[in-house]
Amino acid sequence: MRIHDNQILTTLDPEVPTLGVYFFEPKIMSLPDYSDFHLQFIYESLLLLQRSFMKLWIPLLLLPYNALEWFKKLQEYFDISHIYSHEETGNWGTYQRDLRVLFYCKKSEIKITEYGTNGVVRRLKSRDSWNKIWNERMMQKIYYPVQIQKPVITPLELCNISKNTKNKYKEYFLKNWNKNIQKWWEFTGIKILENFLETKSSKYMYNISKPFESQSWCSRLSPYITYGCLSLKIVIQATENRRTELSKLWTDTAKNHRKSLQYFVSRLHWQSHFIQKLEDEPEMEFRNLNKDFDAIRQEIDAQLIEKVFTSRSGIPYIDALIRQLQQTGWCNFRSRAILVSFLCNTCMQPWQAIAPRIAQLFTDYEPGIHYPQFQMQAGTTGINTIRIYNPVYNGKQKDPEWRFIYTFLPELKSVPVKYIHEPHLWEGFKDLGYPEPLVDIKSANKIAKDLLWTTKWNILKSDKEKIVKKHASRVFHGNRKKKSIRNASLRSGNENQIALF
Ligand SMILES: Cc1cc2nc3c(=O)[nH]c(=O)nc-3n(C[C@H](O)[C@H](O)[C@H](O)COP(=O)(O)OP(=O)(O)OC[C@H]3O[C@@H](n4cnc5c(N)ncnc54)[C@H](O)[C@@H]3O)c2cc1C
Repeated sequence: MRIHDNQILTTLDPEVPTLGVYFFEPKIMSLPDYSDFHLQFIYESLLLLQRSFMKLWIPLLLLPYNALEWFKKLQEYFDISHIYSHEETGNWGTYQRDLRVLFYCKKSEIKITEYGTNGVVRRLKSRDSWNKIWNERMMQKIYYPVQIQKPVITPLELCNISKNTKNKYKEYFLKNWNKNIQKWWEFTGIKILENFLETKSSKYMYNISKPFESQSWCSRLSPYITYGCLSLKIVIQATENRRTELSKLWTDTAKNHRKSLQYFVSRLHWQSHFIQKLEDEPEMEFRNLNKDFDAIRQEIDAQLIEKVFTSRSGIPYIDALIRQLQQTGWCNFRSRAILVSFLCNTCMQPWQAIAPRIAQLFTDYEPGIHYPQFQMQAGTTGINTIRIYNPVYNGKQKDPEWRFIYTFLPELKSVPVKYIHEPHLWEGFKDLGYPEPLVDIKSANKIAKDLLWTTKWNILKSDKEKIVKKHASRVFHGNRKKKSIRNASLRSGNENQIALF
């Protein structure tokens, strides 16, 4: 959803009329992992992209129909010779749609070309070469659009074709607009990036895990990267430029700033690293990566899940977190990990019952990061360490000034500071109307720890090796003597993330 660094716009033949099309597909949008948060961000981005495209003589149609049906319909108006699109690692639904469209194009003799957009490699033969490809891609030149000479339809015709569609969404969003979720389009993304690199990133490292402070000090670029309003390559190159600039300043502040930016770059690297996993194994959306975990955690407690999603778990950190997500569509990495660990490990709920519902609350929902991260936090990969968090302990450590709890759970304002993370221990608790904790966290965590570690230890070595070979990172950190692939995955996949905290 951008004109900058969009390979399609560089390779178009300026003599051939070109039409842009975006399908709001009812079949895809009704899948359980999509929500208005995503739709609103996409819709706003597209309205502004429409204007940018117009300057290139490319009208952009927004159509509320399933792609395949409408490619057929569009063929009645236009003689389609070539479809260009970007490679997308979506969910199972979009993957199946892509296959159907590919089949149709082949049958109808329409040429189809797809370009990569980030560091994810289609039909990757081996993970061994992945880092090299990623580095090469990120250092490639930025693409600039060509100007089309022959418009396929005039702006007036475009208005007529897309009039009904536009009104349909306008009406809908006038009623359902959420002013708190992040705002659209590539120029906002570029501004946020510039501001982050210039100043905010200096304190990134210190605030990344604090639930309140991270709202302002994290980059907040995720939805722009997810929907392609910003290219990963531009973000990486701009960051490297800033790092070079800072290296010329011999002050401690500049040194720390550079270090913070190094943390940031490693996260940008993870972006494609995780998406590559779903690209290589799309079934990760439904199935445990390691099948030995199929035997545990099978029962769904719908009532418990409902209590958590209505901020009635009785654990302030978790309840505040759900409110933060419902109100803003964002929380930091650590909070996401804690929420998954609480539901899947402490409360022993299958991650498959929860992942789509949480995806609805992330404006930046990216299936390729979401499902692999979910499996990692729920401990079902078999190759990563088991992580079980205590939200009370984390709350005390990362929200010592209770700013996060007070912002999102104002009903706890009368609770004395000493009890803010465990209000049920306070003598005035009964009058609060706030629920008792759903579970005894310490004992539930101990049971989960024993069960998950026992399952992990019993996994066959050969099964682990297969997963490591296919999915583990090959970036080596620290002790270079231990270069086995297994260690590589442990250090870069887990311990780096733990070091973050
Ligand atoms: C269970 C779970 C689900 C997640 N689901 C998503 C998702 O659907 N979409 C999404 O963009 N991120 C997801 N993340 C990763 C991470 O939490 C978000 O990218 C980050 O919080 C977004 O905020 P930011 O842009 O300020 O990140 P920053 O910390 O400023 O990082 C910059 C960019 O790096 C990438 N990034 C950061 N952390 C990670 C990570 N751990 N793994 C992969 N890429 C990362 C993102 O593109 C992010 O925008 C998930 C994490 C967990 C634990």
